This record gives sequence, structure tokens and C-alpha cells, in this order.
Amino acid sequence: MLPRTPFYYYDTALLQATLDAITSTVAAYPHFHVHYALKANANPKLLRLIQQAGLGVDCVSGGEVQVGIDNGFDAAKIVYAGVGKSNEEILLALQHDIFCFNVESVPELEVINELAEQVGKVANVCLRINPDVEAHTHAHIVTGKAENKFGIALGDMMHVIDLAKTLSHIRFLGLHFHIGSQITDMQDYLDLCERVNDIQDHLNEEGVYPSVINVGGGLGIDYHDPDKHPIPDFKTYFGIFADHLHLRDGQSVHFELGRSIVAQCGTLIARVLYVKQAESKQFAIIDAGMTELIRPALYQAHHQIQNISSQSIDYQIYDVVGPICESSDVFDRDVLLPPIKRGDLIAIRSAGAYGETMASTYNCRKLPASYTTEDFPLPLT
Ligand SMILES: *Cc1c(COP(=O)(O)O)cnc(C)c1O
Repeated sequence: MLPRTPFYYYDTALLQATLDAITSTVAAYPHFHVHYALKANANPKLLRLIQQAGLGVDCVSGGEVQVGIDNGFDAAKIVYAGVGKSNEEILLALQHDIFCFNVESVPELEVINELAEQVGKVANVCLRINPDVEAHTHAHIVTGKAENKFGIALGDMMHVIDLAKTLSHIRFLGLHFHIGSQITDMQDYLDLCERVNDIQDHLNEEGVYPSVINVGGGLGIDYHDPDKHPIPDFKTYFGIFADHLHLRDGQSVHFELGRSIVAQCGTLIARVLYVKQAESKQFAIIDAGMTELIRPALYQAHHQIQNISSQSIDYQIYDVVGPICESSDVFDRDVLLPPIKRGDLIAIRSAGAYGETMASTYNCRKLPASYTTEDFPLPLT
């Protein structure tokens, strides 16, 4: 008997193989450090494997710092970004002596300095610089253009560094960049490397030598064919930074990967409630909706959808929709699927990142449960 649907189902062997691909690639570059972006998925079953692989964490809230600590991650490998860190969140991070705050504005830098002074600590800080580099992805997940709310403008960088150096409870470590998410065009990362090289040349002329360069995350995955590309091409990704960043002696490079680590290991499993014939189309109405997986509604994201209850090759066309009272509660339109009937199991693939963490109780629904391949087998692929 399967548990009640909908639920998240995680392939732990695939997650482990993905982590192995990262650690074996990075082993060639001892100055590279990978932090897992916790907001992609904070399920403790996944966090345990990620922590055991030796990764650090990248947090965007005090809650995430706490979850990282609670799940055994080393505070000395925690980086913490976010445009709106509250006093309480900053104090929590100071209390745990995290590796680095990625600071996004002058007032934030001043508040961290004040709070660090109050508790008798010195805060390690990288400045998040908005490099004005275009990431070719969905407009809602571009973060490194001049008009985005994130980071400090390039033109202000020098005076903020000068300010940081005058603050007694701030230790300036270096620079942080994060240009966006679901990036599949490696040219975007080449552009980032070149921008960082220019910035470093300029800083060196001014007598500033950062020890940390954090290039953020954003590596994309194949949502169209997860079985063909279950593991992203980490060799090429890390190789770009290894070959193109002009590093100075003693510099470390930090990465913040979320989606590329956890997206492909997760599947949302739902049941068909009704097949509804409309005038020009037929709807497969399933018991999962935007409350379990909001990406299609929020970013027009594509996920591969499978009817795992049927082996038929006599495909029909369906709009696969959820039960939520919103017109945007559509997983995909005009999907070719084996004939669907009430009770069939539907798999929505590549749902391990920004799925379970974004679930809500809208319409007074329950949050989805989660299981792994160790709990019971399911015929995916
Ligand atoms: C979300 C986020 C990441 C991770 O992005 P992915 O696309 O999941 O790799 C990295 N760094 C920061 C600052 C983020 O906000």
C-alpha cells in the first residue's frame, strides 16, 4: 500500500551520486569550497547526505542558519546572504561564529558592526556585489543585473570597502556574486569570471586584496529530460572557474549550489482525481497543486510529467491541473500521456529543488509528506 498522496519521493542513490560527482571534481581544486543553498530543499533526509559529503551551507535567513546547525553542518562553513537580515537573525549568526555574512547594503554593514560590538565579536564579511552581468534565465530569477534589489552596485563598491575597513567589528574577507538561477548557458559564467577579473585588477590598484571570492550558484538542470541528464555537468562548471578566474595567492573560491544538487533526485507523486472532458480539451485533475509545487505557476516552469500507472503507448493529450482555486494552478498544458483514469499515479519529475520548501497550506491543505527510495520502490523513468 502506498501512502496517501500527494507526497515527495526522493532518490537517495541519485543524490549520493550527484554529491560524489561534486566532491570528486572539486578534489582537484583544494581552494574551492562548496556550500549547499539550503533554500532549495531543507528536508533532513537529504541534508544528512549533503552534510556527510562535507559541504557547507548557504543560508538566506536566520531560520536556515538554525536548520543548518541543527542538521550538523559546521558553522565555520556557513555563509549567510539576504537583503533584509533582522537584528535577531544577525545575532544568531554571530552567536554561532558563522564563516561569513554576505552583506548587501551599507546600513546592513553598520548594523552588523554595532551588533558584533555589543556581543564582543568580529563579524567576517564579504560584500555582495551586483556585477551587472546578464543571466539568460527567467526574469523572476535573474539577480545580478543593475536593476535587481540584490547586492551593492559596482560603482559604490570601493567606498563600501573603505567603510568596512574603518569598522572595528567587521573583518573584510572579500566579494560575493550571485547572478541568478537555472543558468544553462556557460557563457554567463565566463562573463562573470571576466567581470570578477576586472574587479580584482581594479581593487589591487587601490591596494585591496580580497581573500575570498564567492561566485554564488545558479547552475541549471535539464527539466525536459531528467533521465538523460540526471547529474549536471559539474566538471565543465567548476572547470570554467578553474580556467578563467585569475586568482591571487591564498585566495579561496566559494560556490553556493542549490538546484543542481537536489532538483533531479525529487519527484512529486500525485493521484488522478478526475478526467474531465471539456469542449476542446481534456483535463487530468490531480490531487497535487501549486500548494505542493508552485514553480509552474510562479515561473512558468516546465516539469516532465509521467503517468506511472500505465505502460500504454497510445498517447492522448491532457492539461494536467491541480485542485486549487486559482487559474494558474496548472502543471502543464497539452501533455502527451498514456490514457489516464481516476486513481492513476502521476509523477512530476525534477521537483527536488524549490518544491517541498515552497509548499504552503493555502486552501487549508496539509503540507506534503516525504519518502525516499529506501522507504519503498516506485517505477520511475
Ligand atoms: C538561491 C541562492 C543560491 C542558490 O541558487 P541555485 O540556483 O539553487 O543554485 C545561491 N546563492 C544565493 C545568494 C541564493 O540566494
